[in-house]
Amino acid sequence: MNNENSLDKALRYLQQQQGLFGDVLYKGLESEKKLHYTETPQDSVHVNTQLINGVKADWQQSASLVDLQSGICGCTQCPLAQTRTKFVFGVGNPNADILVIGEAPGADEDAQGEPFVGRAGQLLTKILQAIQFEREHVFIANILKCRPPGNRTPIPSEVEQCEPFLHKQIQLIKPKFILAVGLTAANTLLKSKYKMADIRGKIFDYQGVKMLVTYHPAALLRNPEWKKFTWEDVQLLRRLYDEELAKK
Ligand code: SF4
Repeated sequence: MNNENSLDKALRYLQQQQGLFGDVLYKGLESEKKLHYTETPQDSVHVNTQLINGVKADWQQSASLVDLQSGICGCTQCPLAQTRTKFVFGVGNPNADILVIGEAPGADEDAQGEPFVGRAGQLLTKILQAIQFEREHVFIANILKCRPPGNRTPIPSEVEQCEPFLHKQIQLIKPKFILAVGLTAANTLLKSKYKMADIRGKIFDYQGVKMLVTYHPAALLRNPEWKKFTWEDVQLLRRLYDEELAKK
């Protein structure tokens, strides 16, 4: 029998909130969008615990990112589950206006369970700061949640299995803009075979959200001369974002 009274429930809720958002009580206000999202799947209340290939049967009904992560973090739907070190759900502001999407976790991400860490991640943070977004303001995720061995390009069957999780993340976050980083990520999302020169500076639609494309920070580390193009791309993103805010 569950003897938890209302006070206990309220206390547990506040402890969950503190675990998620620190000492600020999140109320969904614009001014509080900067709060950082920390994954605590064990705190999530998820009623249907039936697992299908490691995924909770009702994951599509998840009402929050915490709930979603709890529902899918044990996924074994594709062979990458056998070789991953950590499942990489994504990190950032659960109400972010900007969603950054990469292709798949690399070695550092696989080890740490967080996307865009290491040198490429540090560069991404600097790129975002250059247009007045802190890393904590945005949400950062990958198409695949597990690392392909040797950082090989994701194969279509892996994308087919994993992309619905990204769709659900988008549904929950409701970003105003998506920034796809890297040609592979962009072509995977757009189901296309564009060259970077064809898609930079253009606005695409992905899952009903305006999407821009730029170079992957790891590519910029290898080709620093491309940084000027990324600078143009993110300035365009900032301009479009400001125009969107001005419409309010
Ligand atoms: S890559 Fe995606 S579909 Fe494959 S095991 Fe990981 S979470 Fe599941």
